[in-house]
Amino acid sequence: MFLEFFESKGHLKMNSFSLIPHNDNSLLLINSGMAPLKPYFTGQEIPPRRRVTTCQKCIRTGDIENVGKTARHGTFFEMLGNFSFGDYFKHDAIHWTWEFLTEVVGLDKNRLYPSVYLEDDEAFDIWNKEIGVDKDRIFRFGKEDNFWEHGAGPCGPCSEVYYDRGEKYGCGKPGCTVGCDCDRYMEVWNNVFTQFDNDGHNNYTELEQKNIDTGMGLERLAVVVQDVDSIFDVDTIKALRDKVCEMAGVTYEEDANTDVSIRVITDHIRSVTFMTSDGILPSNEGRGYVLRRLLRRAARHGRLLGIKGAFLAELSKTVIEVSKDAYPELAEKQEHIFATLNTEEENFNKTIDQGLSILNGYVEDMKAKGEKTLSGEHAFKLYDTYGFPLDLTVEILEESGFAADEEGFKACMQEQRERARKARKTTNYMGADATVYEQIDVAITTEFVGYDRLTHESEI
Ligand code: ATP
Ligand code: MG
Ligand code: MG
Ligand code: MG
Repeated sequence: MFLEFFESKGHLKMNSFSLIPHNDNSLLLINSGMAPLKPYFTGQEIPPRRRVTTCQKCIRTGDIENVGKTARHGTFFEMLGNFSFGDYFKHDAIHWTWEFLTEVVGLDKNRLYPSVYLEDDEAFDIWNKEIGVDKDRIFRFGKEDNFWEHGAGPCGPCSEVYYDRGEKYGCGKPGCTVGCDCDRYMEVWNNVFTQFDNDGHNNYTELEQKNIDTGMGLERLAVVVQDVDSIFDVDTIKALRDKVCEMAGVTYEEDANTDVSIRVITDHIRSVTFMTSDGILPSNEGRGYVLRRLLRRAARHGRLLGIKGAFLAELSKTVIEVSKDAYPELAEKQEHIFATLNTEEENFNKTIDQGLSILNGYVEDMKAKGEKTLSGEHAFKLYDTYGFPLDLTVEILEESGFAADEEGFKACMQEQRERARKARKTTNYMGADATVYEQIDVAITTEFVGYDRLTHESEI
């Protein structure tokens, strides 16, 4: 509905871009609809049309701690967006936001609340005078919430739309209203008006080419439309949640801790399936580390639910099933997805029980000594020997009121890197010296098979 609506307003519908940013080192993973379109906003590249609409797959690991705890955050989600590259501006963007939400989707106007940036009277007036939203229903927020900016470059005020899901979702605290962190007033849509250029010293000048960049969470809109409690109750995601429950032999909504684990797995399996289908492989660095971390976190929550053995590849089948129509790459890459998830999970399974019992031992020691913080060396040993990403160790510790010395961990990591670097310098692998490569017979050709499979024929 969203994409068709914006096509009817002259937008070109483009496919979701890969989760791997293209020519952009500032970002590990695509985290918004706008991110892959940056070259069009900065003028580096000419857009195929000045109005574009997309549904973009996104990963936000920054939200990892909210996952399973709030109704509205996933590390993976789909962001709908409409974009103007120097074409229409605030007036049309706000009118179309309202038209889509109230007329196309048919949401109750009395449950919608817009917000604007403190000083953005122009947007305030459009909402108030043109759309007819009462003054006291429009919220003015400061830079933190309603000004989009990343260092130097194009930036500007935002206008968000919140949906009131009713008192039962409120935190009940005095002053709970739009902008409260609880799940009652849920932000569904953000309109960014890129109208300034920041010279890097917070001197703002008006841009000649003003842009529109918007983002609406598909899952959040579905929560509102399907009138369900959280993104984990939306039909497609619920199918996945049900599968988790079936595999673990547990029931949803019987125990609060169990529910968190169910939701964490339900979310993380979406992230890891999509990341793998875009060609990311588990590793100890960068994107690969994000994948490893999410996958191992999901595997550990599987343990907490009592699941025996590897289960993530099996679970990814449901992700592929419910999302392959919109993302055909999932079905195309399914064998690769299964193999990658299986290998990684099985590797982790080999050491997870041992690692957990070592960690329990450390905790007992700390209790006996009255300590609260696990040393960096111990956290590093869990990482290095048992494959526990640091934040997994921290998470497990926090569950029983302990912490880890993260600085100490980093120092150990640094030391290990140094050692490895020195070792590389002083030894010639297999006794060879660099000139042996010059003698390689160039007539011998090799075929790279890594795009299609993970192991060489002779190893299968
Ligand atoms: P919130 O304040 O609720 O964390 P946000 O302000 O960080 O949201 P934006 O960066 O404005 O979100 O992203 C645009 C839209 O994308 C949001 O209005 C929301 O609908 C959706 N969205 C953002 N983060 C998530 C997430 N982690 N999971 C699901 N949807 C999200
Ligand atoms: Mg957020
Ligand atoms: Mg917000
Ligand atoms: Mg926002």
